Amino acid sequence: MSEDAQDLGITESKSHKPGEWYAEVVQKADLADYAPMGGFIVTKPRGYALWEGIQDALDGWFKETGVDNAYFPMFIPESFLEREKDIVEGFDPEVAWVTQGGHDELEERLAVRPTSESIIAPFMADWIRSHRDLPMRLNQWCSVVRWEATETKPFFRTKEFLWQEGHTAHATDGEAWEEVWTRLDQYARVLEEVLAVPVLRGKKPDHDKFPGAETTTCVEALMPDGKSVQSATSHHLGQSFAEAFDITFADEDEDEQTAFTTSWGLSWRALGAMIMTHSDDQGLVLPPTIAPTQVVIVPIWQADTKDAVLDYSEGIAADLEAAGFSVELDDRDERNPGFKFNEHELNGVPLRLEIGPNEVDDEEVTLVHRPDSEQTVADRDGIVDAVDAHLDEIFEKLYDAAATNLDENVREAHSPEEILGTIGRHGGYVKTPWCGDEACETVIKDEIAAEIVMQPVDEQGGDSAGEPVRPDADATCGVCDEPADEIAYFAKSY
Ligand code: AMP
Repeated sequence: MSEDAQDLGITESKSHKPGEWYAEVVQKADLADYAPMGGFIVTKPRGYALWEGIQDALDGWFKETGVDNAYFPMFIPESFLEREKDIVEGFDPEVAWVTQGGHDELEERLAVRPTSESIIAPFMADWIRSHRDLPMRLNQWCSVVRWEATETKPFFRTKEFLWQEGHTAHATDGEAWEEVWTRLDQYARVLEEVLAVPVLRGKKPDHDKFPGAETTTCVEALMPDGKSVQSATSHHLGQSFAEAFDITFADEDEDEQTAFTTSWGLSWRALGAMIMTHSDDQGLVLPPTIAPTQVVIVPIWQADTKDAVLDYSEGIAADLEAAGFSVELDDRDERNPGFKFNEHELNGVPLRLEIGPNEVDDEEVTLVHRPDSEQTVADRDGIVDAVDAHLDEIFEKLYDAAATNLDENVREAHSPEEILGTIGRHGGYVKTPWCGDEACETVIKDEIAAEIVMQPVDEQGGDSAGEPVRPDADATCGVCDEPADEIAYFAKSY
């Protein structure tokens, strides 16, 4: 490898130093850089393209299911934030404040939005008059700021992060529940079908729900290092925000009723989960469903074969482009094929086509899968179908590996020693009956920094909260041994 190529390559190991490895992949694959202010990142075009991939999918599904996009100011007057007390308490330690405009001190402090319920709800209250205005479903694509003290991890945890936040109002509790589950399904779908990351769905324990929410539902993904990532949340807000902000409507009998509201968000943390799940010691690995370049063609020539190889490669590139694939023909003169292979591996291009004089003579193409370097030869004739099938196969490989990791890493435990030992040895999720007392979580958290990340719920998708999955009737809490009628999934988390 030339010195240049070594500079390009990943030096950290995913299995030994996952944190350092992740940071190196993000930077060397040109996704993001660190900003001069701690906690902030600069998203580079290749990283932003991945975010756009998520946006394209989700935004389309939102619109198909009755959501309109809108945009609200990034600042929230303090008096608005204070109208819902749980939001103030929950976010107070993390709010960034603007106190001055130009040279003038502001009369009222402005919060940089940590989430926008408090600025959207008062307008919903204005816009909703009768039951005919319901449901109202608004979404905005924006960034929010939460001044978290925890260490910066590009996409996973930054002080400013990109997300979408949906806010809806409904006439009945049941309609609000349908909304909550619809959005959770769409989040699970974007993770599983676009990012190739299988997830567990459930709810957060009561003590960890979103401030002001009645219930917080979530999708959780398991990383190869055994830690869980909360990848998106969908909240049933009950009537707390509607009461605080007067979201009322006249029902069919002209009686005034209070609405039920929901909010739901997916941030670029989902990208972090995808990068961490699939990538390896060679660099970024992307599923073809989101890769900005799905196929790279690397022609391999000597002076006397250059014209024939290039001509043949261009024909293939044109066919693939016409069929709708995103293709790059890497015909740079100044780089040799080995350098190009490394670079496209680092950048996560899912499928490489190698074309040399032999391929031209035999009317064939060599195909190499990014995730495992599996190599096959296909006929030039059926190249479009072959590429299509290979991209599907690459997606399956990535999804299956992640699904196996998830399947194999949910374990049961029935005592504190067993919970601690299992998480300590294997990571992953430990499933245990739980009495519902936060103190029992604290016992585990203090020892090993694992917490209850999820509780399973049955009958999702309906117009109710769904039934919590219950342990056996005589079950006792895995921590305190008192009777338990809930199930908790403990894990370390990002
Ligand atoms: P929340 O509004 O707290 O329910 O969070 C909504 C979504 O944003 C969830 O998917 C979180 O995982 C994600 N999120 C929360 N904090 C951060 C952060 N600091 N950086 C990136 N994503 C975040």
